[in-house]
Amino acid sequence: MNFERKNPLTGDVASQSIAMQAEDMAAIAERAQSGFKVWSEVGPNARRAVLHKAASALEARQQDFVDAMMAEVGATAGWAMFNLGLAASMLREAASLTTQIGGETIPSDKPGCLAMAIRQPVGVILGIAPWNAPIILGVRAVSTALACGNAVILKASELCPRTHSLIIEALEEAGFPEGTVNIVTNAPEDAGEVVGALIDHPLVKRINFTGSTEVGRIIAQRAGANLKPVLLELGGKAPMLVLDDADLDEAVKAAAFGAFMNQGQICMSTERLIVDESVADSFAAKFAEKVKSMATGDPREGNTPLGAVVDQNTVSKVNALIDDAVAKGASIIAGQKGDSVLMAATVVDHVTADMNIYRDESFGPVVAIIRAKDEADAIRIANDSEYGLSAAVFTKDSARGLKVARQIHSGICHVNGSTVHDEAQMPFGGVGASGYGRFGGKAGIDQFTELRWITIETEKGHFPI
Ligand code: NAD
Repeated sequence: MNFERKNPLTGDVASQSIAMQAEDMAAIAERAQSGFKVWSEVGPNARRAVLHKAASALEARQQDFVDAMMAEVGATAGWAMFNLGLAASMLREAASLTTQIGGETIPSDKPGCLAMAIRQPVGVILGIAPWNAPIILGVRAVSTALACGNAVILKASELCPRTHSLIIEALEEAGFPEGTVNIVTNAPEDAGEVVGALIDHPLVKRINFTGSTEVGRIIAQRAGANLKPVLLELGGKAPMLVLDDADLDEAVKAAAFGAFMNQGQICMSTERLIVDESVADSFAAKFAEKVKSMATGDPREGNTPLGAVVDQNTVSKVNALIDDAVAKGASIIAGQKGDSVLMAATVVDHVTADMNIYRDESFGPVVAIIRAKDEADAIRIANDSEYGLSAAVFTKDSARGLKVARQIHSGICHVNGSTVHDEAQMPFGGVGASGYGRFGGKAGIDQFTELRWITIETEKGHFPI
């Protein structure tokens, strides 16, 4: 049986994919295990070569990816191209890691005992990816795992199954042994059972999940019941602090990009602009002017910085956040509520702690300005959130910026840069309700290998009994 994904803008069928069922998962896990047996024995330079080919195979599908992302999630061509570029870079970074999966020898107190810590591939790894940055997050869910010699199952998002399937097609073409890369597509109503069956399957050894905090909790509990490690990359409510000595023009540029790239549907999206009250009016005026110049339009026409949001739920959620804030005394200084998936970039000023937008992830094109009394108050507000993925601080004094950055509870913080910044080689991940574990670069090796302690005795044994 197939299920359909509709184009959020036109309502036309964007893609049709197989609605796999929970009972199909055992065969996929077994197929992956057979791939693992072969791939885990392949040497590091041969693995590297396949990953390089995979990066090129991904890039060769550029037009297919752009078409699929536009149709399935309403993305702009620019966002699709950025996704493709970073995803290819992630595969090349993973390729570079294959010879960096090192170990160590550790001095043993036992005479003649050579003790080693070595890293081995784990087995079959399940990666679950969302729709919002679909190529990046689909590739991230599998690339370092593959570099470390594991087999993978990518559980595609129901909102972009075609985009996620294109990733696996590219990997298949690159020449991984049969069974090493696998995809699961499912209808939205079957997600819980299909994912549950995969997590429960004894051959699936680890799980990584990128998505909402709500579903992350379900995944973590199921994995916990099975005593399986899980890496969680969840929601965010990224703060950008604008201190009293900030370069306001630079802050405005970074805030506009951070809040509205991909219509604010990025886990690192700037959701809270925490501005020192001494510069807040001036910042708000410049920011509103910039945001008013950022139009929203049909992504297929390709001449606006903002395209469509992913569905009507986002429209309702963002509208409700705006209504609640305005009812409690906030003011809209750019944009307005939306009546279709083509929503305007919207700025809500004078946001306070009693408003839902202060705390709840909008995951849409709306940003809050919150005024802070001073630096300490700005840090307090930044940390007044269950989330902790990305953050930013604007100040002309870099030492001050570093000092503030170190006091913010988040996995990532940029001084004088946007909250939206990702590079394949960086340790990416959050704290609190944003999850735990790190993707990226060498930090990723820890997540996708088993660290073993192995000894060799070189002298005759002496035992007490
Ligand atoms: P989502 O949690 O709704 O869906 C993600 C995946 O979970 C889908 O594949 C879906 O099939 C699966 N799922 C849904 N219900 C399930 C259930 N009951 N049991 C098991 N699996 C289930 O997330 P989304 O809407 O696709 O993505 C948006 C969210 O992802 C936002 O909160 C965003 O901040 C977050 N995100 C985080 C990062 C990061 O790196 N931290 C990156 C991108 C997005």
